[in-house]
Amino acid sequence: MKKVICPGSFDPVTVGHLDIIRRASKMFDHVVVGVLNNVLKTPSFSTEERISLLEKSLSGLDNVEVVGFDGLLAQYAKDNDITAIVKGLRAVSDFEYEFQQALTNNKLNPELETVFLTSGSEYMYLSSSMVKQVASLGGDISAFVPECVHDEIIKRLK
Ligand code: ADP
Repeated sequence: MKKVICPGSFDPVTVGHLDIIRRASKMFDHVVVGVLNNVLKTPSFSTEERISLLEKSLSGLDNVEVVGFDGLLAQYAKDNDITAIVKGLRAVSDFEYEFQQALTNNKLNPELETVFLTSGSEYMYLSSSMVKQVASLGGDISAFVPECVHDEIIKRLK
């Protein structure tokens, strides 16, 4: 069974994230969406909130599960029989950092591959931080976040 992980902050989930997760769910048997509980970053949404928003947005995708995790991704993958990391690449600017991460993870866990999916052209500009910035200035974020969690996100960002 091909089990992969889509890791990220998802602070909060955007339609760009959903596009990558949906496409991964068609390519692999099982997709774990790993919500990073990163002590170095202070997220706007708690881990529980980020997980809940993702679960609502992904309901209906039977081979996708959402988990919170901290610690080393390479170790988490080893412990959970995950063979690949799936990441979205938006622009060339994402590449250098992602390349470094992929090589590091492969050194730490040689069984672990990183698969890059190119961002859908309509999502290339989209990031969680952009969503938060627009919402904080009173802008319309309905095109950027899943419809079913739009109101919840707006309420929290006000
Ligand atoms: P960000 O905070 O930059 O939105 P995350 O850390 O939550 O990103 O990202 C998780 C994963 O989703 C990463 O692999 C990232 O490249 C990918 N991703 C985020 N936004 C998009 C997008 N608009 N299109 C494609 N992939 C994306």
